[in-house]
Amino acid sequence: MASIFTKIVKGDIPSYKIAEDERFYAFLDINPLAKGHTLVIPKKEVDKLFDLDDQTYADLWLFSKKLARAMEQVIPCERIGVAVLGLEVPHAHIHLVPINGIYDIDFSKPKLKLSNEEFKQIAQQISDALGS
Ligand code: AMP
Repeated sequence: MASIFTKIVKGDIPSYKIAEDERFYAFLDINPLAKGHTLVIPKKEVDKLFDLDDQTYADLWLFSKKLARAMEQVIPCERIGVAVLGLEVPHAHIHLVPINGIYDIDFSKPKLKLSNEEFKQIAQQISDALGS
């Protein structure tokens, strides 16, 4: 069965898309730790990040780097934190989280509740920054 992220890539499930190319897709985490919390995935469905082929693995990080740079431009934060968990969704992904301190990337803390408008606005801002 297709993963929830494959369904997102195919457009079967909506997402707050930030960017995509032929191989990768970036969108906002629906249960964000911080405003701008982004997930970056390969379109290829592989469960564990470290099981990706080397080329996809390396290029996923380069794609993530572009996202992080764009996020830094529009989300006020100290830096962009990175996490790889995969405990919930068995489709390789990198979490990019704007952080000011260690608590901002504590996955056990309550998640932010954002409105549809807020999600849309943040996704658009990051997307615009990517193009600039
Ligand atoms: P993990 O697999 O432990 O890295 O966590 C998966 C992440 O995906 C969690 O932070 C979820 O909030 C997020 N997530 C799950 N379903 C969706 C969805 N439909 N859209 C955006 N993010 C999602």
